[in-house]
Amino acid sequence: MIRYQNVSVSFGKFNVLNHITFEVNKGDFLHIVGPNGSGKTTLVKLLTGLLKPTEGMIDIASVHMGYLPQKLSSKTNFPMTVREVIYSGMKKQRLIPTKEDCDLVKKWLDIMEISHLYQESMTYLSGGQQQRVYLIRALISNPDLLILDEPTSALDPSFREKFYHLLYDLQQEKGTTIIHVTHDLTDAVKDNCLIMYVDQKIKFFGTYHDFHHFEHRGHHHD
Ligand code: ADP
Ligand code: MG
Repeated sequence: MIRYQNVSVSFGKFNVLNHITFEVNKGDFLHIVGPNGSGKTTLVKLLTGLLKPTEGMIDIASVHMGYLPQKLSSKTNFPMTVREVIYSGMKKQRLIPTKEDCDLVKKWLDIMEISHLYQESMTYLSGGQQQRVYLIRALISNPDLLILDEPTSALDPSFREKFYHLLYDLQQEKGTTIIHVTHDLTDAVKDNCLIMYVDQKIKFFGTYHDFHHFEHRGHHHD
């Protein structure tokens, strides 16, 4: 579904990604891990077309993509309501929402436990509440490819667990391909997942089971 071929990204003289080559198949669940500044966000941003590689090529066969950018929450005024943000993620933008649209929004507000915030301005929401709104925005269009850049950074632990269950259900039941940038591997991963450890280059790409050995070998000293 996705193929990175010898992809490099530089900002001026600064090399962020060096000759990255890998493939993601339809229905894969890939967790991307690595230290701060290792190029994870840069790597997934390439998929959205918001950023072009300095070198190399990326092929994507996705029909419809859902993207959650890394931490959008800010203390500054954000003149949009929860409702408006969610509707901006709808596949079809309509002047007047249909009954199906309304039901879908209700369902997701309920899943994310923020029904009471529907009419609220984004400005007055906490970081975690904002993150839930953006998650609905990314998920509501039923994408075949879901890209989540640290989606749980502001979520509380119990909701985090519920959220991962939801992701695995999407993968299992709808065959959604999921690319997940994360720091908390422990509660997220399962045996059938792929892990990519990136630090400018790909240091590891494989199953969670094998990643265990990689970690214990001490990748810091490679
Ligand atoms: P990560 O998500 O793994 O923390 P990023 O992909 O956000 O890492 O960033 C990797 C490096 O690239 C960082 O050192 C960051 O400062 C730099 N970087 C990212 N975007 C830009 C940009 N638009 N201009 C210059 N440097 C950038
Ligand atoms: Mg990042």
